[in-house]
Amino acid sequence: MVENLDSVISEMELYADKFNVPIMQKDGIEYLINYIKKHDIKNILEIGTAIGYSAIKMATCKDKIHVTTIERDEQRYLEAIKNIKKLDLEEKIMPIFNDALNVSLDDKYDLIFIDASKSQNIKFFEKFSRNLEEDGTIITDNMSFHGLVEKDESEIKSRNLRGLIRKVKDYKEFLETNKTYTTEFIDVGDGLAVSKKKER
Ligand code: SAH
Ligand code: MG
Repeated sequence: MVENLDSVISEMELYADKFNVPIMQKDGIEYLINYIKKHDIKNILEIGTAIGYSAIKMATCKDKIHVTTIERDEQRYLEAIKNIKKLDLEEKIMPIFNDALNVSLDDKYDLIFIDASKSQNIKFFEKFSRNLEEDGTIITDNMSFHGLVEKDESEIKSRNLRGLIRKVKDYKEFLETNKTYTTEFIDVGDGLAVSKKKER
């Protein structure tokens, strides 16, 4: 058992709220944790650490689990390090400070959790799928993008925002038409995509 877990988690939720850090929503993280337990996931790669909230939630949900997590924002990375230290989780969580697209890993993971820049999702998927165990799962957050993906495009005034929504839609189409992976879209939190290799 990790001491102080609940209090550190609460502090992180307050910090995220105060500084607008887009940590996972409660029901989204619940779904993820249940998935990890149900499928006895042991080795996780996360793209997008932020302040370490989801990494800590995942790393503490069961025994024998390791999370490697990548963050490109220095301030958030340092905050994550601080939180991991507070909980003595250095052996279960390995944070990497870099742009994920510049990171090459040799390990295989049974879960890859993509929760970073929405416009790079296809690139993350293509780059890191070679690090996925044969029967592993890739889960992507923010498939609904605050409900904006389902909205009529003409209702969105900002050009920049329309561009981002287009990227999420492109990624959705990329998953739907993927020849190697089959994807289920789950309506929890901000929308999750759960992708697994097709049986051959
Ligand atoms: N998974 C976290 C939230 C992540 S928020 C949680 O639920 O607790 C998304 C984070 O991804 C941001 O902190 C952002 O800086 C980071 N990010 C975006 N693009 C990235 C990239 N290409 N490489 C590494 N980190 C990235
Ligand atoms: Mg997210």
